[in-house]
Amino acid sequence: MNEHDSENIAGLLEAMGYEHADDPSNADLVIMNTCSIRENADKRFFGVLGQFKKNRLSNPNFILAVCGCMPQQERIVEEINKSYPWVDILFGTQTIGQFPQLLQDRIETGCQQIAIIDNNPHIQEEEMQAKRLYKFKSLVNITYGCNNFCTYCIVPYTRGREKSRTVESIVDEIKSLVADGVKEVTLLGQNVDSFKDPTTKQGFAELLREVNKIEGLQRIRFMTSHPKDISDEMISCFTDCDNLCNYIHLPVQSGSNRILKRMNRHYDRERYLERIHKIREASPDITISTDIIVGFPGETEEDFEETLKLVKEVRYDSAFTFIYSPREGTPAANYDDQIPDKIAHQRFDRLVDALNEIFYEKNLSYVGKTVDVLIDGVSKTDSNCVTGRSDDFKIVNIPFVDCCNSCKTDMIGQIISVKIIEASTFSLKGELVS
Ligand code: SAH
Ligand code: SF4
Repeated sequence: MNEHDSENIAGLLEAMGYEHADDPSNADLVIMNTCSIRENADKRFFGVLGQFKKNRLSNPNFILAVCGCMPQQERIVEEINKSYPWVDILFGTQTIGQFPQLLQDRIETGCQQIAIIDNNPHIQEEEMQAKRLYKFKSLVNITYGCNNFCTYCIVPYTRGREKSRTVESIVDEIKSLVADGVKEVTLLGQNVDSFKDPTTKQGFAELLREVNKIEGLQRIRFMTSHPKDISDEMISCFTDCDNLCNYIHLPVQSGSNRILKRMNRHYDRERYLERIHKIREASPDITISTDIIVGFPGETEEDFEETLKLVKEVRYDSAFTFIYSPREGTPAANYDDQIPDKIAHQRFDRLVDALNEIFYEKNLSYVGKTVDVLIDGVSKTDSNCVTGRSDDFKIVNIPFVDCCNSCKTDMIGQIISVKIIEASTFSLKGELVS
């Protein structure tokens, strides 16, 4: 979500004539798009913010803007104004469209500009022309905000109440992306399953079916699904929609019913496993990833073992694992049975070990198979490889030992067939099928 916000902001700046600087220390304008999901993001933000004071001192025209989830919190705005009063512009997650005006007002008046609101009824959509990170794939918001109030989570406070766009505006946006060369879209929402067109009342499955009809679009992904809301109708799209990728991210958070209840997740492990079963019935070889939090307040060894048992039962292809981080203003931050750091870290390590073993075994089963890969670019870790994702979201690296640079560049943005020759825990290695 933040990544796509950054693309939108970059698009607004490009329209104003700004160009991307190679290095923040040479920039006349720096925008920090911030995250608040866990405490370490907060801490890093203040560390990096402090470093920009020298730009301020050496360049009289330097402007620093802070946006995203952090300025949505009053205590953060107070802290910025107290300790970093030289920040020029503060805007929130729901006022991105106002940024060009704020920037102009700052330049003309020399005064600090602030635009933060909690609940913007006007969705900022068609008006923003994102500067996309990739030419051939794109993120597309379908909902904004969240109504779920999981007890650990800051998102409903920083991104406001859930609002859905219309099917028509989403389909129009994707058609214009396709006309511009996009092959793959990822539909974004904190809970895509609660999408509801405000005018036609069409739900997420209906939206998927409409997007699937768009000519020229080759891959559809979405994130994130919520186990309490994912419907049979949506699951049937895995069978019926030929462009829907064979992959789902279905965060479980915990395998313990007691903890799920305290998290306010509105499902239990039985419901979760039943949904997984239904998904695998619709698409037997689908890949599945998840989010898991360890060390949630009150989590006992038995609760944690329930999580371990669940991951072994589901056999995920990948996972994001987190140590619970108390977020001020959320109910769980006030629970009096917080878990000591040492125990949380030990559980985290045990969970990661169990997951890694499963990921490796699952990846190993790809060796010898041929998969279609959308090539993202040259690998950041090995300039002799190009890298991309299979339809089912596996990272595939393809060595290019004897090839020239222009071949590598020609492949970027193409979907190519690759035979898998090697597997590791987090990626696959393959060779081109001639
Ligand atoms: N809307 C999505 C994800 C939002 S945030 C969903 O409900 O799945 C992404 C992930 O961050 C969450 O799934 C959760 O696992 C993790 N997370 C959120 N708040 C957290 C916190 N306070 N501490 C640790 N992990 C957290
Ligand atoms: Fe946070 Fe829960 Fe909403 Fe996801 S569904 S954004 S975890 S409150």
